[in-house]
Amino acid sequence: MIKGFIAGLIVANGFEWVAHKYILHGVHRTGQPRYSPVPRSMASHWAHHREVKTQHFHDDCYVEGLASWRTRNELLSLGVVAATSIAIFAPLSKGMAIAAAYSAINYFYVHRKAHLQPDWAKRRIPWHVDHHMNANQDANWCVTKPWFDYLLGTRVVSSPDLKEANPLGIWLPRAVSQRFTHAVERLRPVKWTPTALTATDCTHQQNRLRKVA
Ligand SMILES: [Zn+2]
Ligand SMILES: [Zn+2]
Repeated sequence: MIKGFIAGLIVANGFEWVAHKYILHGVHRTGQPRYSPVPRSMASHWAHHREVKTQHFHDDCYVEGLASWRTRNELLSLGVVAATSIAIFAPLSKGMAIAAAYSAINYFYVHRKAHLQPDWAKRRIPWHVDHHMNANQDANWCVTKPWFDYLLGTRVVSSPDLKEANPLGIWLPRAVSQRFTHAVERLRPVKWTPTALTATDCTHQQNRLRKVA
């Protein structure tokens, strides 16, 4: 069952990436509005982006709870995805079905907490802070864990303090974490925003000057 559960977590992470990119952000079309197969969810998500960008990463829809149509829409969407996934996975693997239910609940818990407690988000899911606060918001698609962003080359980091310790986004012993990160980034290096590179260059420059002094 544990193998099925882990497989289910991986599938759910891949779904986060696909759904966020193609349903919530929509596909860019020249001279036309973006296309999403679920326009209401896309409208809700862009309202979320606007709120977060102007409210220092806060979104009051989570304070309002069920009184907010956007919170209701997120919960309903997660319910539909979870129910469909469970129906598909249950005959194949109990572990995958449990992972589907867990992933939907965990998504809401993590996303809600991140936008109620931005400092927690910076420590625990910095990739989602970059998703909202970078100039280019069409990147960093994963929310709960950054796995598929590493796999598909869409993790774009804005500053060293918003770089997770390792691509799994979980605690690992320091030596293991560093070795694993090094191995993954040799194959799938993260990208850095131009401002991050400039800041890193400045830091290196200052360090060099300090060393010379
Ligand atoms: Zn988004
Ligand atoms: Zn968000």
